[in-house]
Amino acid sequence: MLMRQEIEEREMDSLAPYAAKSRASHNRTYAEEEHPFRTAFQRDRDRVIHSSAFRRLEYKTQVFVNHEGDHYRTRLTHTMEVAQIARIIARALGLNEDLVEAVALAHDLGHTPFGHAGEDILRLLMQQYGGFEHNLHTLRVVDLLERRYPQFPGLNLTWEVRESIVKHTTRHDHPVAAEFLPRLQPLLEAQVVEVSDSIAYDSHDLDDGLYGGLLLEEELLEMELWKEAAAKVTQTYGDLDSRQRRIQTVRFIINWEVTDLVENSAALLEKNKIASLEEVRQSPEILVTFSPDVQRKKDEIETFLLEHLYKHYRVTRMAQKAKRFIQELFQEYVRNPAQLPPPYEQRIKEDGPQRVACDYIAGMTDRFALDEYKKLFDPYERV
Ligand code: MG
Repeated sequence: MLMRQEIEEREMDSLAPYAAKSRASHNRTYAEEEHPFRTAFQRDRDRVIHSSAFRRLEYKTQVFVNHEGDHYRTRLTHTMEVAQIARIIARALGLNEDLVEAVALAHDLGHTPFGHAGEDILRLLMQQYGGFEHNLHTLRVVDLLERRYPQFPGLNLTWEVRESIVKHTTRHDHPVAAEFLPRLQPLLEAQVVEVSDSIAYDSHDLDDGLYGGLLLEEELLEMELWKEAAAKVTQTYGDLDSRQRRIQTVRFIINWEVTDLVENSAALLEKNKIASLEEVRQSPEILVTFSPDVQRKKDEIETFLLEHLYKHYRVTRMAQKAKRFIQELFQEYVRNPAQLPPPYEQRIKEDGPQRVACDYIAGMTDRFALDEYKKLFDPYERV
């Protein structure tokens, strides 16, 4: 049987010198005995998967709301794509795959229902009460809001996973994040998750947008990377029907981006003579990045998606509707917090009604929020 110490030993031998080693983990907020055959980061990954917030990702919107159709990405499938891409990159760079997987699976736990519309409206409503930002809220979910273990609140994850969750954002000046030294660069494993997130959403939003008829193939040819990938697909397979052409073009784009990222990051690590985790921390620049050429083409995709998909009138209508009723839910809970379920209501003294209402709403799935709206405002609905 392979014991934890042996797995840790193998990490020391097989991972790159600049990788985060589970043996060197800064440990957990509440001291716990190590597991006999799982490393600290493997255990974190398992805790994330067993959490209730993780299961709820299945019914949270990525871009398309759940009831629009069964083929679109949800927060859960998005999260799985991020984890898959991140693990491939981590393995190719000799980084800690278990840590990357734990961070990737946790990275969107703090996302609200209804995608960015939900986050935007909560940020506005919470402006005077400490604000709302989904990465910081993810930390709140894993540190406090998950209730599974009698010995401590939250999931009691390792410092490295918690820091990587917060450093997944650019806003390091927030008091909640003060314990994570803002001047230091994130671990390479966190940097990998950050870019994998963007590789995943760029590619799957193009895919979902085309599938849903919100984007048109002719428009996509305006983008260099799409045009090159589409040409490569035709060169490889000849004429395909539009469905296969869409799937293969997206596939080529992911492969190009991942390959470029791995090659460019490996070259950067070598050029900067990075030989330890300390040097990663002190490096003046992020080391997991695309080549300038691919970065430029990727920026083009993001601008395109912003203009053609995220601002599409159908997406805007969904977003506006979601904002309206999230705002009404929030105001109603704050007006009379006794309507909140007991575990939430109990925290009002400490955290104030706004923060507690925000926690409750942010944790909801799309369909739960819709149901809750009916229960509160439809006189014929059961409460
Ligand atoms: Mg994400």
